[in-house]
Amino acid sequence: RKPVVAVVGRPNVGKSTFFNKVAGKRISIVEDTPGVTRDRIYVDAEWLNYKFTMIDTGGIEPDSKDVILSQMREQAQIAIDTADVILFMIDGKSAYTTGDEEIALMLQRAGKPVILTVNKVDNALPNEFYYDYYNLGLGEPFLISAINVLGIGDLLDEIVQYF
Ligand code: GDP
Ligand code: MG
Repeated sequence: RKPVVAVVGRPNVGKSTFFNKVAGKRISIVEDTPGVTRDRIYVDAEWLNYKFTMIDTGGIEPDSKDVILSQMREQAQIAIDTADVILFMIDGKSAYTTGDEEIALMLQRAGKPVILTVNKVDNALPNEFYYDYYNLGLGEPFLISAINVLGIGDLLDEIVQYF
């Protein structure tokens, strides 16, 4: 089977925007039921000579803030169980949250490759939080702007190294 890359992150960090930029052909759209976004949750992607499947574990997102954290734990567990590489996405417009810290710890302990991705860094330059990201214990943060398509090539280069 093709390598699986799972994207984990709080709602609104830009997972779907990122997906749409990387999207290939076969795409599944989740059912049109209440509380279920119509985002693409599976994407066939290709980079250089590598083919892989990307999963948006946050494709089904909660309405209520109360369930965000428990849902993130669940997402992270799905990623740990199914992915070859985990992309943990956070929002570069603000400092990371305690929820982000908790998920980072879970991912750290899983023993799988985890790539810390900071989205919404629209000029792709280190922002005011840059050195704080190292405290998440996931190594070098990759700064990207899904909207401006900045940093995505370097990120994909890093992802395929683990295949
Ligand atoms: P998801 O909930 O993680 O899937 O996030 P979405 O992809 O739905 O994006 C949430 C919001 O963040 C939307 O308003 C996007 O337009 C915005 N967004 C996504 N990527 C970027 C980015 O690179 N820069 C900025 N400034 N906004 C972004
Ligand atoms: Mg989404």
